[in-house]
Amino acid sequence: MSLAISRVPTPVNEPVKSYAPGSPERASLASKLAELSATQTEMPLVIDGKDVRTGKTGRAVMPHRHAHVLGEFHQGGAAEVQSAIDAALRAQKGWAALPWEARASVFLKAADLLAGPYRDVLNAATMLGQSKTAHQAEIDSACELIDFFRFNVAFYEQLLREQPQSSPGMWNRLEHRPLEGFVFAVSPFNFTSIAGNLPTAPALCGNTVVWKPASTAVYSAHFLMQLFREAGLPDGVINLVSGSGGDVGDPVLASRHLAGIHFTGSTKVFHQMWRTVGDNIDKYVSYPRLVGETGGKDFIVAHPSADPVALTTAIVRGAFEYQGQKCSAASRVYVPSNLWPKIKDELAALVGGMKMGDVADFSNFVGAVIDGASFRTQKAAIDEAKASGTAEILVGGEYDDSEGWFVRPTIIVTRDPNYRTLCDELFGPVLTVHVYDESEWVQTLDLVDCTSPYALTGAVFAQDRYAIEQAMERLRNAAGNFYINDKPTGAVVGQQPFGGARASGTNDKAGSILNLIRWISPRSIKETFVPARDYRYPYMES
Ligand code: NAD
Repeated sequence: MSLAISRVPTPVNEPVKSYAPGSPERASLASKLAELSATQTEMPLVIDGKDVRTGKTGRAVMPHRHAHVLGEFHQGGAAEVQSAIDAALRAQKGWAALPWEARASVFLKAADLLAGPYRDVLNAATMLGQSKTAHQAEIDSACELIDFFRFNVAFYEQLLREQPQSSPGMWNRLEHRPLEGFVFAVSPFNFTSIAGNLPTAPALCGNTVVWKPASTAVYSAHFLMQLFREAGLPDGVINLVSGSGGDVGDPVLASRHLAGIHFTGSTKVFHQMWRTVGDNIDKYVSYPRLVGETGGKDFIVAHPSADPVALTTAIVRGAFEYQGQKCSAASRVYVPSNLWPKIKDELAALVGGMKMGDVADFSNFVGAVIDGASFRTQKAAIDEAKASGTAEILVGGEYDDSEGWFVRPTIIVTRDPNYRTLCDELFGPVLTVHVYDESEWVQTLDLVDCTSPYALTGAVFAQDRYAIEQAMERLRNAAGNFYINDKPTGAVVGQQPFGGARASGTNDKAGSILNLIRWISPRSIKETFVPARDYRYPYMES
């Protein structure tokens, strides 16, 4: 019972620590990296608050040193999925019946634990298991996830305050119920913050969850689950079931109690899930909410008036941080013919000079790509460009998977506006540049709009205000997150709500009230104080 109309603390974005030489955070993170590197971690499933070992295991390795095994994770199938669904359904009544402040407290506590004692653990796990540098881990597994927890709590309070008007003689109310059933959260490898947000955003709203992390990110997911438990999340509210996509996904999607899917990953997998839900539609108790943030082919388009130095910096940071494995990473760039000679050499020098290697060496700017499959995708694109008559490699083009899955940051330049790597998502450190005739600005905007099926992020660089407005207008539907004179990556919770449309997703803006709205099913309540006692209306009188 709640005997107050509470206000949650006003959220503020978590400050990013620098990890500069001599800083206390650097020493503390280095020691956690050494500790985890020297430990073998067993990663069970967690169902109804209990560790579950199936004996069918997979290995979590360091992408930058794939011979180094961080530990073994247990993989679930139909039986474990059924236990997880049963646990989620059992837990839902009690969890949903808690005062909302109690649920909010769990996630505010998780935020404070992550800002404090868990910061090094999650950052080190993300560095080792997903090959992120200290800075990339800090802005993801620490700051962004802390922001998700704190801002979502504030958005949830705002959502609960959303109430209708009442005419005289009655009181109308909206009750923001959780969905009936359980939510299936399916997370990608590339952001620990997304892995943390996908199960917790629905849980905050009173839902219970079956969560399947990506097999290449089970290591950080294991520590996330520890964080949730230490924050006081009751048993059964979030049930962690690792395993192959189909082994876990198929039985989950066949459950009549599936109330929603909170997915981030590739377009192909989301299409498959959507199709399966369609095939199963007669089985479900309710229409499942389908929320998916999917692939991208994010662009930077420069106008002839663009500042060449700002443009170069945005290309370098936007395309290559975290090896181009951000959903928002620039992967196609359109440069006018007047600017290309001014930026080409500098771009090649900066990208060619990027230090690549083990992320535990803080002087490196990039690590390895996530796995052998991604390595082969990047290698194929590079080999294709080397053999092509319409494209050439400006810088990079080397790869070596002997120790880790390393691909040198690479820029392909092509005259062909439909060249394959301008259209297909590669999700790695391979950027394609198309140089257009400076007189063809408007045609180029149309080209940017039509070249790929995706519409996630995009950026325009221009000093000319008319050009900026033209780009805003013509590219209205080409990106869900649009940047003016800035790189297309680095969205901050509470500042740039994130998500795209077309083949990039349902655009339910992670880290905003718009996302939380998908996890509630409102009930309208009308109470009449003095009910009518005669069915006849005045117009019927003689
Ligand atoms: P992925 O699609 O390979 O995997 C995502 C998740 O889906 C994993 O947990 C995987 O195990 C699971 N999965 C696979 N098949 C399944 C099935 N049949 N049923 C249920 N689950 C299944 O994606 P990834 O390689 O982990 O991540 C990279 C992709 O994610 C890229 O396409 C990237 O653009 C996208 N992404 C998008 C955003 C965004 O906000 N739009 C953010 C991050 C990543």
